Amino acid sequence: MQAVVDPPWDGDAWRVLARQAWCAGLAPEDLVWDGDPQAMLAAGPALQALPATRPPPRVAADFPALAAAVACHTDPQRFALLYRLLWRMASGQPRLLERASDPDVQRVRMLEQAVRRDSHKMKAFVRFREVPGRDNHYIAWFEPAHRILDRVAPFFARRFAGMHWAILTPYRSVAWDGEALAFAAGATRGDAPADDAQEALWRTYYASIFNPARLNPTMMRSEMPQKYWKHLPEAALLPTLLREAGPRVQAMAERAPEPPRRRIPAPAPEPLQVIEGLDALRDAAAACRRCPLWEPATRTVFGEGPHDARVVVVGEQPGDEEDLSGRPFVGPAGRLLDRALGELGIDRSRLWLTNAVKHFRFEPRGKRRLHRNPDVAHVRACRPWLQQELAALQPDIVVCLGATAAQAVFGSGFRLMEARGRWLPLEAARGLATVHPAWVLRQPDAAREAAYAGFVDDLRLLVEAGATP
Ligand code: SF4
Repeated sequence: MQAVVDPPWDGDAWRVLARQAWCAGLAPEDLVWDGDPQAMLAAGPALQALPATRPPPRVAADFPALAAAVACHTDPQRFALLYRLLWRMASGQPRLLERASDPDVQRVRMLEQAVRRDSHKMKAFVRFREVPGRDNHYIAWFEPAHRILDRVAPFFARRFAGMHWAILTPYRSVAWDGEALAFAAGATRGDAPADDAQEALWRTYYASIFNPARLNPTMMRSEMPQKYWKHLPEAALLPTLLREAGPRVQAMAERAPEPPRRRIPAPAPEPLQVIEGLDALRDAAAACRRCPLWEPATRTVFGEGPHDARVVVVGEQPGDEEDLSGRPFVGPAGRLLDRALGELGIDRSRLWLTNAVKHFRFEPRGKRRLHRNPDVAHVRACRPWLQQELAALQPDIVVCLGATAAQAVFGSGFRLMEARGRWLPLEAARGLATVHPAWVLRQPDAAREAAYAGFVDDLRLLVEAGATP
């Protein structure tokens, strides 16, 4: 019995025939598969006319997709191989495709991979050329190794939806008019434009970005096999670029080193006008737009505490819970701070608690918002709020929790681990820096208690100095 798939790359057409053959009880050795469309006229009806003697076959869920890919391969044995696999799966080997050592499975995976690779190369190496005298009309010539045009055409329809284009191949062509794909017979290379003005521009650009120091000819030939070069405008440059790469790299190495280019700093935000009083400051900060952090955050988290506080504690930035509640140090790090203060007998309600940056910086991850450190620019933009808070409070002591807070108060050159746990001079107060309680929480189990003890020890200076009631 002969079975003919028409067109010979159509996986759906093969499935119809394969199902009929299975239902008729035709074993793989009873069937001759043929890709010749002319033979369909004679053989197709004969197979369709066979009576079904059993229900349709049950196969692995991923088999139809596999068959659709393999149908595009040019191997003349592909349909026979697929039918053998179908027969075996439906005859008591339902998990056959998982058996990587099976010769049929190995073969079908090889064919599938070849089709996928060819499709990938087509997406990468099709180059459209403008049709002379027709606005927004383009034609590309391509020679795929397998019959993949029907599989890949929808990709180009999505990618170049606004253009009118056609892709010509030796066995089939396809055109897109902005609304639908239309397939037709194959063509010849001469049917496509040979060159266009944009290609000269592209070649100039390609030559300018070609970096000989990063050239790896072996890798390049494996990623861009030479058989595709004929489709690429830049390919004409490659022999020269490859030949000149060695001398160019040598010249680069011999050239005197240039000083690194300086980064252009972001413009400094406008100075903040002086605002009298903590309540007025809080209101003004609520509408702050001095840096982009305000936008994704819920609200400004301004400092809080008694206006006559003698000790100000500065953290890095609000966290998730602070952002939602609008209050500083109410999340896990705040609770650890409370625990430390409690152990030292320090009354939290007598402190002014605030942050160097007043908006929560985070990265969305599903339903969670993961903390991200503020950049230097954010700290710089937010510093005037902290400076005016300190000016309004005039505390005796400023305690900085973490490097960001310490650098906001003492300057960007401050090194926390060198200066933590001792009194540091400030203009009109004393300063003290220690780690942030969030850092303590991030320590591994084995190190967390020691980190916490060090944190408490640093804060103990406040008690020893009699700085807190
Ligand atoms: S982080 Fe500071 S500077 Fe940036 S918008 Fe918020 S309050 Fe303003």
